[in-house]
Amino acid sequence: MALFRKSTKAQEETVEESQDLSDLRSAVAKARLPEAAAQTVARELERLEKTDSSSPEYTIGLNYIEYLVSLPWHGFTEDNLDLGRAEAILEAQHFGLGHVKERILEYLAVRTLCGLGDFHILVVDDEPIARANLEYILRKEGYRVSTAGNGAEALERVKEEGFELILTDLKMEKMDGIQLLESVKQLAPQTDIVMITGYATVSSAVDALKKGAAHYLPKPIDLEELRATVSQIREKKRFMQMTRSPILCFSGPPGTGKTSIGRSIAEALERKFVRISLAGVRDEADLRGHRRTYVGAMAGRIINEIKRLEVKNPVFMLDEIDKIGQDFRGDPASVLLEILDPEQNSRFIDHYLDIPFDLSGVMFISTANVVERLPAPLLDRLETIPFHGYTEREKGRIARSYLIPRQLREHGLTHSGVTFTEGAVTRIIRDYTLEAGLRSLEREIARVCRKLARLILQAPGGKDAPEIDSSLVERLLGPPRYRYEPAGSGRQVGVTTGLVWTEFGGEIISVEASLMKGSHQLILTGSLGTVLQESAQTALSFIRSHAEEFGVDPDFFQGHDIHIHIPAGAVPKDGPSAGITMAMALVSLLTGRPARRDVALSGELTLSGRILPVGGIREKLLAAQRSGARTVIFPEANRIDVEGLGDDLREGLEVVLACDIASVADRVLA
Ligand code: ADP
Repeated sequence: MALFRKSTKAQEETVEESQDLSDLRSAVAKARLPEAAAQTVARELERLEKTDSSSPEYTIGLNYIEYLVSLPWHGFTEDNLDLGRAEAILEAQHFGLGHVKERILEYLAVRTLCGLGDFHILVVDDEPIARANLEYILRKEGYRVSTAGNGAEALERVKEEGFELILTDLKMEKMDGIQLLESVKQLAPQTDIVMITGYATVSSAVDALKKGAAHYLPKPIDLEELRATVSQIREKKRFMQMTRSPILCFSGPPGTGKTSIGRSIAEALERKFVRISLAGVRDEADLRGHRRTYVGAMAGRIINEIKRLEVKNPVFMLDEIDKIGQDFRGDPASVLLEILDPEQNSRFIDHYLDIPFDLSGVMFISTANVVERLPAPLLDRLETIPFHGYTEREKGRIARSYLIPRQLREHGLTHSGVTFTEGAVTRIIRDYTLEAGLRSLEREIARVCRKLARLILQAPGGKDAPEIDSSLVERLLGPPRYRYEPAGSGRQVGVTTGLVWTEFGGEIISVEASLMKGSHQLILTGSLGTVLQESAQTALSFIRSHAEEFGVDPDFFQGHDIHIHIPAGAVPKDGPSAGITMAMALVSLLTGRPARRDVALSGELTLSGRILPVGGIREKLLAAQRSGARTVIFPEANRIDVEGLGDDLREGLEVVLACDIASVADRVLA
């Protein structure tokens, strides 16, 4: 009995095993795998047949083939290139951002003009019947078709107009297919050529391939093969058009709309959208997968997302590419370079797949907070589109038109009649957020909505939805988180206000200096980077060498230490733009003249006292407005940047452009 059972089980296993493999075989046949994948799968299937089905290798092999087969080798969505529609979608979902919207519409316009929809084929054959047949078949497929009776005539036509594809017979009188191929390659190298050959001339067909023909079709022509060949060439051209467009990189502070406009682009094009953040990526294998020799090997995130989406042409957002590489095994720049380089990404090799997958149809968009951090070769590949922080007025408008309606909707309050007064919105912006973008603002609006939903439901007798004004905001959100008042109003000796530019946008800082008995040392604290430390030394040396001009005792450093501190001490800081701010803190300290705290400074100081231009003017002005500064001092050399900005950015601020440090001192010190 036992023996009988065992043999039945063995039989079942064999049946099961072959069922697995035959299911897989039919899936493989349906998948129309490209050459390299088909060969790998065939090899792998052969190996599986000889492998014990209970062994781990069998399962690994099975999973691998299933994974390969399930990839969207041919799956893609048709682009919607309707410019009017795209513009309407971008406008409806985002306020402002004119330059970004314009660039995206230009991109779509170029793609439309490239005539992707118009695939023009020239059929060349000296036999009229063969010519007419091909013309008929291709027209039925929807292609635009022209014909020529011989090579010379074909060449004339190529000179007159462009063709995407030439289907030519090999043996023709006067000029044969090979001669035509050679001439067309010179005249119109972007035109693809497919050679039609008799069985007797297969070796010349191989010759044609060597000379640059895209493919050859043996006679008699198999219609399925003809259709597949033409459609593959068309698809390839489509993707080539895509790849020639540059990779966009949206750069700017968090919460300024980079991700959400990426989503809108996908919606406008009717493509699928995916976003991955590279900030947490610690290992090259995260992106590119593990080799199958590793236990538990998996494909990387790029290929996994493509598989999940089931199309090979999504809009793929690589978020925070400037954060990759810190603590990264392998070479981050090279993986990104490969993914983003159109020349290479059509043959992207994931370590798990171990065969090329064509990523050239993917529209990659990257985002970064600070593009300057990117390695030069990578930056070179990207077209950077800057995103800026918003003014208080812009934030108010975006809140009223986009964020509040969305949050009301998401909290089931759309029909409750809840409204926000203008004062309430300003209150949330000023007292509960301190940012260049809109993330906290949206979060705080969501908090108000959440608390309100509860209030409405718990109110006895179903109270009417209230109008949300500034005092209700405080009741719901608690005491103000940030005090909005002119930056540390008043005057202080040895303390000045500076403006810096960080990945979060512009920020206001204080510089504190103090003098004490000691041994001739400059002490610097506040997690200052090398450049900032050197700026402090430069400022000190400049003042020592010009002590008399500032009315400072030339021996002030004798028997003393000087300490410069920049709070918040735990946040690393660097850059040269605090040079004049530190110099003013020192002059104030050494002369005893109090410094105005509502004057915010930014400028690099050289040892000879020149003031060099600084970056991030726009973001710094926004930070000055947010923190209530009254006067902002920038280098004269930044005049163009300042004058190029709209009046709203200077609203409420006196902007002074300084040529030398003496004029700065007059403005800042009493
Ligand atoms: P980022 O990717 O730059 O960090 P997000 O795209 O996540 O920023 O934007 C944060 C929030 O602010 C989102 O809800 C987004 O819709 C909204 N937002 C940002 N900019 C705008 C704008 N110009 N118009 C409307 N909403 C915006």
